[in-house]
Amino acid sequence: MPIDALGRPLRNLRISVTDRCNLRCRYCMPEAEYIWLPRESILTFEEIDRLAAIFAGLGVRKLRLTGGEPLLRHDLPALVRLLAGHAGIEDLALTTNGILLGRWAATLRSAGLRRVTVSLDTLRPERMVAFARSARHGEVLEGIAAATAAGFDSVKLNAVVIRDYNDDEILDLLEFARGRGLEIRFIEYMDVGGATQWDLARVVSQHDILETIARRHGTVTPLREGDWAPAERFRLDDGTAFGVIASTTAPFCRTCDRARLTADGTLFLCLYGERGLDLRELLRLGASDAEIASRIGATWTSRTDRGAEARAALAERGVLHQIDSLRADPRREMHTRGG
Ligand code: SAM
Repeated sequence: MPIDALGRPLRNLRISVTDRCNLRCRYCMPEAEYIWLPRESILTFEEIDRLAAIFAGLGVRKLRLTGGEPLLRHDLPALVRLLAGHAGIEDLALTTNGILLGRWAATLRSAGLRRVTVSLDTLRPERMVAFARSARHGEVLEGIAAATAAGFDSVKLNAVVIRDYNDDEILDLLEFARGRGLEIRFIEYMDVGGATQWDLARVVSQHDILETIARRHGTVTPLREGDWAPAERFRLDDGTAFGVIASTTAPFCRTCDRARLTADGTLFLCLYGERGLDLRELLRLGASDAEIASRIGATWTSRTDRGAEARAALAERGVLHQIDSLRADPRREMHTRGG
């Protein structure tokens, strides 16, 4: 298994299967128009599957399908079926906004998907209209119910907390998850590419999230699992567990074992990374598995990225990319790179 320059193994791969999305969340895709990856550049399922086998051979143990909205990719269960067949892959998960999950949850489960994370930022349909330009809140709730019924190893919820948008729903969201036996993770608003309206004043820190929860529920105990997961987990006295992903105020670059593959086959080693490795070109020019593995291994071995820590160390912190920079290279977008 390749180990990078800071001692971090390559164990985890996030695969974006499309840059398209059926939501327009203000913290991710606030613009009126986007430059999409050309269709012919999008990796086929066979190409993704071949790369997954190469990554598994290098030591990757966890795959997560993301996007864009991964359920917009035609026949995603067919890809899941391919990926679930790889020896070495211990975990196969999906991050989705849930809109199409009601239709697909059971099929994905029987295709071999193990875990699902659904993004749910608000329990108020009118807020979703204002914030994500979608009136499909009811479908998200149906998707969560279908995933819960489908028998996945776990169903989790993700909520990005933004001041004056949904920070008054932290307790309601926690209650919603608790009532359904689901674990929720609160995510700090990140200044990733695509977040062109990012503002530090809108970030609700892990500290503030925990304080809100403790005021209502009493002692919040950190579980201190010390593993490589992005979320730090906590427990309430009644046993309810939840997580906080504090990438903005308390970044965890030192334990980041994740690489990201864009839908067009560019490998990034950091959500904030500027340059990627073009694996599509290698695939389509006829490189052997061994050659591709060696390029990935060499790239990972020289990895020094600490993107979130570097952002946190800035004296003046504003948006990462202005619109022109995103238009010049759509791979800088969160929805292309895969969250
Ligand atoms: N469409 C899928 C979804 O909604 O879960 C998968 C892709 S989405 C880019 C993955 C995750 O990134 C979501 O949970 C989303 O909330 C999160 N995300 C996007 N922009 C973010 C930002 N600026 N700060 C924090 N999280 C963000």
